Amino acid sequence: MIKPDGRIDINGKTISALEEFQRAILQVTGDGSATDPRKLKTRDAIIQVYGGISTTNEWVNASKYLSLYTIDSSIINNPSYNCINVYHPNKSKLDKFWCHKAMHPFLSKAFENLKTNNLLSELKEFGGYHNVRATRGTNYWSAHSWALAIDINITENPLNAEPKLSKKFVECFKNAGFGWGGDYKRKDGMHFTIAGFDIPKT
Ligand SMILES: [Zn+2]
Repeated sequence: MIKPDGRIDINGKTISALEEFQRAILQVTGDGSATDPRKLKTRDAIIQVYGGISTTNEWVNASKYLSLYTIDSSIINNPSYNCINVYHPNKSKLDKFWCHKAMHPFLSKAFENLKTNNLLSELKEFGGYHNVRATRGTNYWSAHSWALAIDINITENPLNAEPKLSKKFVECFKNAGFGWGGDYKRKDGMHFTIAGFDIPKT
């Protein structure tokens, strides 16, 4: 919001924006039988609704919720933009990737924040987005199961280690509506998830 009023009123702007996001998630998650993707119990159930795990175009094209996110050219062409797709065979500079449709506005805001704050050079590695699996070491489905999370600078920010990302960098994502794995009890500094899809804080 341009002029946030700091309030969450019934039928107010804030709650309707949050509900809009919730609707966006539900709309793109399949046939409507799964009202909340997090309620699916098994890996097979997730795959049945969302499609299998594969990097082939056939699967990606058949997916009901994945969409290609293209990073704005003004960011790609910025000389300080430095992000490599670590899973690309040629380790090419990242310019687009598949993720949940609902992620797009959040990502755009985060990239825009990085640009405004002159932090594009801190984007070094992109470590993936979609993978139907549990959060490592837990029984909870990872937000990666729905391509609602991305991993950044994975080499410098491994699981269970003190994150190396700068506070300013993290703020750019939080401001855009992401939750950060570095805030978890078990630190996962590379991990950014749309807030609300974080692992339960138990
Ligand atoms: Zn992650």
